Amino acid sequence: NMKRLATLRHHTTTSQDGMGVVLAANVGTVNDLPNILQNGAEAIGLMRTEFLYMDSDQLPTEDEQFVAYRQVVQSLAPRPVVIRTLDIGGDKPLPYLKQKPEANPFLGARAIRQSLAHQNIFRSQLRALLRASAFGNLRIMFPMIATLDELRQAKAIYDDERTKLTAAKVPMGKVKVGMMVEVPAAAMLADRFAQEVDFMSIGTNDLIGYTMAADRTNQDVGYLYQPYHPAILRLVDRIITAGHAAGIPVAMCGEMAGDPIAVPLLLGMGLDEFSMGAGSILKTRQLISQLNAKELQSLVETVLNSASTSQEVVTMVQAAVPDVL
Ligand code: PEP
Ligand code: MG
Repeated sequence: NMKRLATLRHHTTTSQDGMGVVLAANVGTVNDLPNILQNGAEAIGLMRTEFLYMDSDQLPTEDEQFVAYRQVVQSLAPRPVVIRTLDIGGDKPLPYLKQKPEANPFLGARAIRQSLAHQNIFRSQLRALLRASAFGNLRIMFPMIATLDELRQAKAIYDDERTKLTAAKVPMGKVKVGMMVEVPAAAMLADRFAQEVDFMSIGTNDLIGYTMAADRTNQDVGYLYQPYHPAILRLVDRIITAGHAAGIPVAMCGEMAGDPIAVPLLLGMGLDEFSMGAGSILKTRQLISQLNAKELQSLVETVLNSASTSQEVVTMVQAAVPDVL
């Protein structure tokens, strides 16, 4: 079976009825590159840049970051690479930043909130990214966006750095700018956000946690961590519909994107890109090749209109595609 999967390594990803999607990889560091290419990634849908900052006892310099980003972008070229700006705080503290202790770090100063509050760190990361953009197909993504003001501020800072580098004649490539949709407020307002970004990527790890009001790292409330909960599925569907209405692609980079029960539903909803850990890519490519996207649209409709619990959703999916699950 592993051998059969390996033959899919150099294939694109197409459903049984001919619908193409992109299967991308989530990466943490440049060390992940050989493994994701080995596993047939068509793109990088999420590079978490936190590790560059956490694997050290001080902030990485702009040049150190540039070298790392360039290597990733170059290794994948011409395939796209989505690099996410710093997402510290919450489950990813940075010891040397000496953040004030917070009663609720997941609801505190994390991700884009930190970047907007410490603009020197954010600007240095954006400059490193812009310089790396000359070497391939780079997309920049902002994490934990909750309001349009945050998005507009982040984009204004990005534009400002780009303008300065242009004036200094620094070579840069075309860069698409997008956001993660992982805060329920952004999911509800996805139609508005979609007017102001080039792409959206759904971060289900946090979206599930915030929607169910359950800390993703607290096992005592682990039972609430339900990717197939109808409330989550309605939000996900809403985001995809909003993106497509605005003419932009929608990706997912949370764990859910590689989950075999979720994949048929996501395909039926029209998700454009599935980004996951390297180990899930070939299995997901095989699963999608056996699914009929058109038929799954009616499964999605039934699920969204009539399922009340996660268990009901699972039962419906298993009944709809019994031969592949
Ligand atoms: C997510 O929240 O789904 C996500 C991909 O980001 P992270 O797991 O890094 O918070
Ligand atoms: Mg997240």
